[in-house]
Amino acid sequence: MTTFPLALAGQPPAEVTYKGQTYRYLGQEGRYRVDGAQNLYHAFISACCVCGQPFVCRVPANPNPSVPFTQYPLRRCKPCRKAAGPEPRAKPKPRHIPFSDPTPAKIAQALDVIRAGAGAERYSSRPQDITRYAGDAFARHLKCSAAEAEHVLRHLLERGFAEVRSYYSKAQRKQKQGLFVVENRDENVFD
Ligand SMILES: [Zn+2]
Repeated sequence: MTTFPLALAGQPPAEVTYKGQTYRYLGQEGRYRVDGAQNLYHAFISACCVCGQPFVCRVPANPNPSVPFTQYPLRRCKPCRKAAGPEPRAKPKPRHIPFSDPTPAKIAQALDVIRAGAGAERYSSRPQDITRYAGDAFARHLKCSAAEAEHVLRHLLERGFAEVRSYYSKAQRKQKQGLFVVENRDENVFD
């Protein structure tokens, strides 16, 4: 059984499936664009995955394989689409972290790095602050990979060892966000 997306060229078979839904091929349709050129579509009929009513949907039948387009069909009829809004996207899976929690020694080392600060500034928890991203400093001082350093940083923040606070940067004469060690951390809150 053929499934969407279809091969770029050629006529689709009589039946195509997508996410368990069946689409019966009706034929090709041309639709005129504002500029007078014609776009070709494959028309299909399917049963709405919400209410079961038949509805017609079209996917581009573009004969030019170098032109990218979406070939995934609609799954719901128009009234159901209108009623429920856009199809909910699958939640992104939490990124797999192949590291166990950092040891107390590593945590202590990382906290010392944060205390020392990035020159005149505080370290940042955000990778886009490239000159003072704490992850880079951890990778250097803890001699670990960037991914593990990121994991250590996340652990410190999630477990309340460190926090992001605003501080006054004398060099830049403005309030900035930076990392601070939580010196009076209450172990009981986290364990
Ligand atoms: Zn419906």
